[in-house]
Amino acid sequence: MSILQKIYKVTKSTIGPLKKDFSTAKTLNSEGYSFELTDTQREIYELAKKFAKEEIIPVAAHHDKTGEYPSEIIKKAWELGLTNAGIPEHCGGLGHCTFDACLVEDAFNWGCAGIASTCLTSDLGQHPVILVGTKEQQKKYLGRLVEEPLQAAYAVTEPGAGSDVNGVKTKAVKKGDEYILNGQKMWITNGGVANW
Ligand SMILES: Cc1cc2nc3c(=O)[nH]c(=O)nc-3n(C[C@H](O)[C@H](O)[C@H](O)COP(=O)(O)OP(=O)(O)OC[C@H]3O[C@@H](n4cnc5c(N)ncnc54)[C@H](O)[C@@H]3O)c2cc1C
Repeated sequence: MSILQKIYKVTKSTIGPLKKDFSTAKTLNSEGYSFELTDTQREIYELAKKFAKEEIIPVAAHHDKTGEYPSEIIKKAWELGLTNAGIPEHCGGLGHCTFDACLVEDAFNWGCAGIASTCLTSDLGQHPVILVGTKEQQKKYLGRLVEEPLQAAYAVTEPGAGSDVNGVKTKAVKKGDEYILNGQKMWITNGGVANW
């Protein structure tokens, strides 16, 4: 059980399940949106900041110079439960709200924006499956990310399509039981190492 899973277990038994989405200690008050953190969110942020200080910052310059993929850092972050924030509990994940995931993003990016992107952009690929995948698809694709430090990637950008997603030219054509994919992609974070 990761440190975050332990924190969640204790918190759930004392203050109940956390609300989803942009949940904070006081979501809305008379003065507008509140960013006051719950005790759990404070612990998540402190853990992520400690991780950035001790594990990311000391090696950031080395990775910038060499371009070496930070597999070890990803593995350590995964072991602590700092990656895969939004994977639902029925797939073995923590089912964090978006706000909690942003806290980890903030702390990691404070350490190094490049390593933070590599460690946390798997979430981008996971979101469509979390939002519209069937329970079976979620278990199949998200479950394995909880079991092993694997990455998902989200491949939209092409030489002629960035902000304009309608410009995507890549096609998936069904042939028998398989889909044949043809097209060009670029700037896909973790595209070269992703499991799916
Ligand atoms: C570090 C990094 C990681 C990335 N990872 C991924 C990834 O994992 N997966 C992926 O699919 N892509 C990824 N990308 C690509 C990124 O999402 C694209 O750069 C982005 O979609 C913008 O596309 P573009 O660069 O072609 O810019 P363009 O779409 O050409 O836009 C250029 C500029 O024009 C502005 N603009 C565009 N359209 C309009 C409009 N209609 N009205 C007003 N202004 C407009 C934009 O705001 C921007 O300032 C990554 C990029 C970077 C830098």
